[in-house]
Amino acid sequence: MSVYETTNERETFEIGYKIAQNSLPGEIYCLIGDLGVGKTVFSKGFAEGLGITESITSPTFTIVQEYDAEKPLYHFDMYRIEDPDELEMIGYEEYFYGKGVCLVEWANNVENVIPHEAKWIYIEKDLEKGFDYRKITIK
Ligand code: ADP
Ligand code: MG
Repeated sequence: MSVYETTNERETFEIGYKIAQNSLPGEIYCLIGDLGVGKTVFSKGFAEGLGITESITSPTFTIVQEYDAEKPLYHFDMYRIEDPDELEMIGYEEYFYGKGVCLVEWANNVENVIPHEAKWIYIEKDLEKGFDYRKITIK
C-alpha cells in the first residue's frame, strides 16, 4: 500500500503521470473517489504519462473510451452500469486482458468482474487539512 498527499491539482496530475509511466500492459487501475475529488485530474495525468496527447473526456456515454499509444489507455466509467451484462456486451474482457492499461472509474459498481490483481486507487478529501488537500491511497 502507498499513500500520497497532495495540496494542489498539479501534484495529483503528477501522481497519475508517474503511475502510468510505470504501468505494464494488461494492468488494471481502479479509481475511486467522490465527485469533485480529482479523478479527472488524475486521469489526465495518467493519460499524459502514457504519452497520450489527446484530451481525456469523460467516457460516461460509452462506458469505455480508447486512446491509442504504445501502451493504449482504456478509460472506463462504470457509473451507470447496473447489470454486468452491459459489460459483457462491450466485450470488456478484451480490454481487461489486452495490451493496454485500464483505468476504471466507479469500479466499485462492478466489483465482482474486477480481477484480483487490479490495483485500487482511492482519492479522498480531508477538509481539516485544507480545501485543496487530497489523500491518494493505492492498494
Ligand atoms: P472528479 O473527476 O473526481 O469529479 P475533477 O478532477 O473533475 O473531479 O475535479 C477536481 C477539482 O478539484 C478541480 O477543480 C481541481 O482544480 C480541484 N482540486 C483542488 N485541489 C486538488 C488536488 N489536490 N488534487 C486534485 N484536484 C484538486
Ligand atoms: Mg471526473
